Amino acid sequence: MSILAILEHQNGKWHRMSWETFAAAQELAAAMGTQLEVAAAGSGLATLLPEAASKQATKIWAVEHALLKDYTADGYTAALEALIRRADPRLVLFPHTYQTRDFAPKLATRFGRVLISDVTAARAEAAEPVFVRQLFQGKLSADVRPQGPGPHFASLQAGAWRADNLQPGSAVVEEFQPTLETAQIRQKPEPPFREAARGVDLTAANIIVSVGRGIGDKDKIPVVEELARAMGAELAASRPICDAGWLPMERQVGSSGQTVSPKVYVAVGISGAIQHLVGMKGSKTVVAINKDKDAPIFEVADYGIVGDLFEVVPALVDELKKASS
Ligand SMILES: Cc1cc2nc3c(=O)[nH]c(=O)nc-3n(C[C@H](O)[C@H](O)[C@H](O)COP(=O)(O)OP(=O)(O)OC[C@H]3O[C@@H](n4cnc5c(N)ncnc54)[C@H](O)[C@@H]3O)c2cc1C
Repeated sequence: MSILAILEHQNGKWHRMSWETFAAAQELAAAMGTQLEVAAAGSGLATLLPEAASKQATKIWAVEHALLKDYTADGYTAALEALIRRADPRLVLFPHTYQTRDFAPKLATRFGRVLISDVTAARAEAAEPVFVRQLFQGKLSADVRPQGPGPHFASLQAGAWRADNLQPGSAVVEEFQPTLETAQIRQKPEPPFREAARGVDLTAANIIVSVGRGIGDKDKIPVVEELARAMGAELAASRPICDAGWLPMERQVGSSGQTVSPKVYVAVGISGAIQHLVGMKGSKTVVAINKDKDAPIFEVADYGIVGDLFEVVPALVDELKKASS
């Protein structure tokens, strides 16, 4: 019994979240003591596969069929159902993308299962998987333990795992040609939903400077904006800042905003409420600037500066400017 991770691609490129799912699947396979197989569906996958095959996995399934050239829910469901019956995994993991949301619940239903969706963490207990997902807009975190024999299906939240934790390796590629008929595919392919259509994709940012209510006033936002500029960072915010319209909603980090995992996350005047923390706890290095030494943000910070942001931030900007000149 193995874990099967399904990778996604578009326009000849792997979807960024495919690597996060691959990394999560590696981690969980190691914790459960099981093998990892990986699959992608499409037509003409050959050019894409070497990159996936250079990671640690037992096998890469290339699910090839001319009718899979353009994504359709019917085509992907039929093809992956056939693959899953052949590969017989215990768990099937997907990136929680718009495409997965479109077809994975239907695929799970083919096996009499539900999709455990938008999972934020996973672990193994006695070699059995336990998934963590949020309920009531992040007010509760629930442990979900799939019951009964596999396959079980779960999709993984963007930014909840780090793609740079992927272990390199050398996987065998095996082609799998499902039997597909034109009549099985009722949808007419349309241009894919553009996930990055929003003005800013914080999930892809390497450095984020995030501003919270400590800034006090909309007119003061440029103080933090300048730090973001000096660091080459994206500007983000806690919810009150976006609720007040001081920054657009698309810049909100947290349970009802984006989940991010940059290399560096600088939290300025943010207290560290749980709903904010769930959106940024995957960051590699967290720097917190807060005048309250007991603010919960310091519990997740690698570096903390206790002080007034209106003194600390301009001083940091000055130092950064000096260093770069
Ligand atoms: C269902 C639900 C969903 C939510 N979703 C989200 C979400 O997605 N994202 C999110 O962020 N929140 C979310 N929240 C809100 C969350 O609970 C907190 O209210 C919010 O994160 C607090 O934002 P904050 O840290 O900016 O403000 P505050 O909690 O008010 O913290 C401000 C901080 O600034 C510090 N400070 C003040 N002045 C200065 C200064 N001059 N210098 C330095 N530090 C200073 C203070 O010490 C304080 O720690 C949600 C809440 C609910 C109920």
